Amino acid sequence: MSSHPSIAMFEAVQSCLAVGGISLDRLAERVGSTPFFAYDRRLITSRVGYLRSMLPADVKLSYAVKANPMPAVVQHLAGLVDALDVASAFEMKTALDTPMTASHVSFAGPGKTTSELIQAVAAGVTIEMESSNEAARVAAIGHRLGIRPRVALRVNPDFQVKGSGMRMGGGPQQFGIDVEEIPALLGELAAADLELLGFHVFAGSQNLHADILCEALSRNVALLQRLAGDCKWPVRYLNLGGGFGIPYFEKDHPLDLLPVGQRLEALMETEIRPNLPDARVVIELGRYIVGESGVYVTRVVDRKVSRGRIYLVVDGGLHHQLAASGNFGQVIRRNYPIVVGNRIGETELENVSVVGCLCTPLDLLGDNVMLPHAEIGDFIVIFQAGAYGLTASPTAFLGHPLPPEVLV
Ligand SMILES: *Cc1c(COP(=O)(O)O)cnc(C)c1O
Repeated sequence: MSSHPSIAMFEAVQSCLAVGGISLDRLAERVGSTPFFAYDRRLITSRVGYLRSMLPADVKLSYAVKANPMPAVVQHLAGLVDALDVASAFEMKTALDTPMTASHVSFAGPGKTTSELIQAVAAGVTIEMESSNEAARVAAIGHRLGIRPRVALRVNPDFQVKGSGMRMGGGPQQFGIDVEEIPALLGELAAADLELLGFHVFAGSQNLHADILCEALSRNVALLQRLAGDCKWPVRYLNLGGGFGIPYFEKDHPLDLLPVGQRLEALMETEIRPNLPDARVVIELGRYIVGESGVYVTRVVDRKVSRGRIYLVVDGGLHHQLAASGNFGQVIRRNYPIVVGNRIGETELENVSVVGCLCTPLDLLGDNVMLPHAEIGDFIVIFQAGAYGLTASPTAFLGHPLPPEVLV
């Protein structure tokens, strides 16, 4: 197969790629139609196990539901992680449908509506407040409902984390409360009837550089310790964010988790356990947990040659898997790992373009890729589809049906 690490995570049954031990040709019959998304339960489980083995035992693991909110995936993860992070009332409902304790569900994100905040307070989840206005609204809702809201303050740090695919902290931000405003806000909130648990900082996503993540962890811990010094109560919650990236493109190297885990253990040892003994320390991850466990399976519906270039036209496209077309936050379009799912191991390759079925040149899923000779009816499989796939795509565009999702 290809050397890409995410492809190598999947087995093949003879020449057919397998998800969850079931070969694609059989799985496609079971699903009943293409295209579809398939997520491998065992890969998700083993990824969480790997994280547990690399991170300090007393650091809690939270799953960011927005990465993949499929209810079966969230249910599966609820039994494996310590917490679920949601970013809308709908995600909160999915999380509350699992056995996860409500207090271990955290609700982050700017622009929470009053209706969402009421639902969150009533549910007893931990609200990660993104502005002083939001704090005032939560306090008022709690007063009206006669419930003491569980809250944390999301902090916008005064430094930036370089090397993130998406930056969500440092400088001016719609996320979090500027760190310099926190001491005054703590003073104001002292009088409010809020269960102020601690702090949350999430500075960026999709980082593959262990050294930068280590540096960010150290700076986050220093920052949060400084803020804890301004608290007249014991800090019980420290969400240190995450941002662990996965290798999407050929030249990406997988994140080396060893130094990250070691740095975290050192910080727990020297700073957090002695100085903030009551703090429940959380690392919050989305794509790192689920991204590599999923594939998007399409079928070739046409094969054509235009002025010397071979086009494989598939029955899927960017309406289901926007990120693979390069239009979900990428600056330069590069190919996601892609294979002909029923021709694994074939060594004679040709240069092709894989395009989706939408009537727009943006619907390009594989540009100038080397693949075995594929015929109409063959499977084209795109990897890294376990996170920010279906729910991060413009599914209504051109009005094709929604693809099924299966957890295998
Ligand atoms: C999106 C998000 C995450 C997850 O990011 P990944 O890159 O998928 O790990 C975690 N925390 C917060 C607050 C987020 O908004």
